Amino acid sequence: MSSAPPSRTPSRANGRARRIALFGGSFDPIHVGHLAVARAAQRRFHLDQVHFIPSGRPPHKHRHQLAPFPHRFAMVALACAEHPHFVPSLAEAGPDWGGGQVFYSIDTVRHYRHVFHHHGDRLYFILGADSFLEIPTWREYEALLNSCDFIVASRPGFRSEALRLVIPPELLGRTPPTDSHEVALRRTSVHLLDTVSSDVSATEVRRRLHRRQSVRGLVPARVEEYIEKQALYR
Ligand code: ATP
Repeated sequence: MSSAPPSRTPSRANGRARRIALFGGSFDPIHVGHLAVARAAQRRFHLDQVHFIPSGRPPHKHRHQLAPFPHRFAMVALACAEHPHFVPSLAEAGPDWGGGQVFYSIDTVRHYRHVFHHHGDRLYFILGADSFLEIPTWREYEALLNSCDFIVASRPGFRSEALRLVIPPELLGRTPPTDSHEVALRRTSVHLLDTVSSDVSATEVRRRLHRRQSVRGLVPARVEEYIEKQALYR
């Protein structure tokens, strides 16, 4: 795992176990869809913290050249300033802080278990439905599914039955599903979060910026200002 220095381990809320969610992504840039998902997850699962983790170099060849890591992190940090439970994370910054290293989610989860996790704390992994459907292509994905609970945010066009289809049958728990919003695995659960549905994507934000169109309302105002000042995505 990376030698990226972790932020200081936050103290436990009133000595009780905390609920910590990891929300990884390229965040190129972070947008209101990401924030709506995190807010809905925070409320529904009473999360103490949501850690936004901008990715280093993506493991799979990415469809586009990502903006440099420091810019993506800066925008995440600006967006997190608006919410007391949101934490910008340097977990995938790498040893030189440049974000040039490949990180796999399983390693990032292990890192969090090691650094942040106290006995009894609960870890969640937030991701969009499109990403969850790709999970079988991720490194050690079975170990990943067994390592923490998942919160899968619906995206337009996603059907909830698809959730079960990507989970290998041998990982499923014995209890039959009682709730279409939760798939029980042996040690963990996959929760569907469908109370928020935003069709904003970073692709659309970049496309608009490239055409010099406004992105007002699609990204937080501070992020919009940052993009403008740094002349990103032109
Ligand atoms: P891109 O358009 O560049 O592929 P993106 O908008 O999907 O980017 P990412 O940074 O890749 O943004 O997303 C991080 C995570 O947030 C992914 O798991 C993705 O599925 C999820 N996500 C992004 N936008 C939404 C949205 N509008 N609703 C639900 N989940 C989302």
